[in-house]
Amino acid sequence: MSGKSDGDPPGPSTRAGHLGRHSHRHLGAVNTPVYRASTILFPTVADLEASARGESRSIGYGLHGLPTVVDFQEAMAALEGGFRALAVPSGLAATTLPLLALAKPGDHVLVTDSVYFPTRRFCALHLARLGVEVEYYDPLIGADIARRFRPNTRIVFTESPGSLTFEVQDIPAIAGVAHERGALVLMDNTWATPFGFRAMDHGVDVSIHAATKYIGGHSDVLLGAIVCNEATHAAMHRLWTDMGVAASSDDCFLGLRGLRTLPTRLARHRASAMEVAAWLRSRPEVREVLYPALPGSRGHELWRRDFAGASGLFGVVLQPVAKERVDAMLDGLAVFAMGWSWGGFESLVIPTWPERVRTATQWAPGGPCLRLAIGLEDPADLIADLERGFARLSGGAA
Ligand SMILES: *Cc1c(COP(=O)(O)O)cnc(C)c1O
Repeated sequence: MSGKSDGDPPGPSTRAGHLGRHSHRHLGAVNTPVYRASTILFPTVADLEASARGESRSIGYGLHGLPTVVDFQEAMAALEGGFRALAVPSGLAATTLPLLALAKPGDHVLVTDSVYFPTRRFCALHLARLGVEVEYYDPLIGADIARRFRPNTRIVFTESPGSLTFEVQDIPAIAGVAHERGALVLMDNTWATPFGFRAMDHGVDVSIHAATKYIGGHSDVLLGAIVCNEATHAAMHRLWTDMGVAASSDDCFLGLRGLRTLPTRLARHRASAMEVAAWLRSRPEVREVLYPALPGSRGHELWRRDFAGASGLFGVVLQPVAKERVDAMLDGLAVFAMGWSWGGFESLVIPTWPERVRTATQWAPGGPCLRLAIGLEDPADLIADLERGFARLSGGAA
């Protein structure tokens, strides 16, 4: 018994292995090779003219869709259930360019207070300069977002779970309100990846991914993906073309290769993160674990309702303790390393200060905050490393 019948769609790992693959176009190579090209040659004037008129099926210039880029985009769009995807050189480009493409002077844009900080800075400096009014809202607002709407509200920017603080947003409720009022919903879906949250199925119009994180998966690529529905694609594609911000073939090659193993890696990241998070919660040094996948954590019920999976990134609130003790804990870690970004095979930890940037809500967790990215190492080694860290935190010798 296979447990599947003929009409069932393939499972996530099967899809991850097959989407965006066109070996017959590439001498049979399993992976789409890296195409390096700026100039594309035309055999005749008629071909060149057809390309200039946009009538040709092949691309006219390297910036507008080399096969490695197109195949990555195709896989991302299919995974999210979107119309088309566009690859850009970083996750930050993927969060900011849709705002630039879809907001116009005089518009009002609602942005979650838990948004990735560089996205917030872009809104404050550049959207404001273009005459777009930005207002921040409580990530847990749900359908009450209706009260923030004005006649000129065009975009609601969401991110779930939130950066650093991991609030799970009620995306279907927010999308219901937004669509009733003719506004678009953008979502930074980096944490869950398309395997953990199919954004389009929950009413999102533009789903954004820092493929730098789990999709790349090895801390050696900067890449972003913007997945659009049919209504948003034309404007997004226009801006992508006109700003010349296509991702490189090398980076899309790594993104596409990362997708092949993503469900397998995610399962391990999640299982290890659950183990480490549950251990942390049992410790007297820990006030709270912010990991929606962990039963009993904030946001767990919504996460269970809407998400199909989780990644290995979560927050920890420590009991009140002097900064020097936290520094001693982190400085001596041997398996965990400190650094920005996450989603790679290696475990990372950083101190965080979410209270410094909020404006719509207060963040007062009652103790120092950390962010842990649980990699693919053995969880017992990670726990032992943290246990020695807690000895330093408490002023012990270890
Ligand atoms: C890292 C990150 C980004 C930006 O990705 P880069 O590739 O580093 O520019 C965007 N959104 C979220 C939620 C992130 O964590």
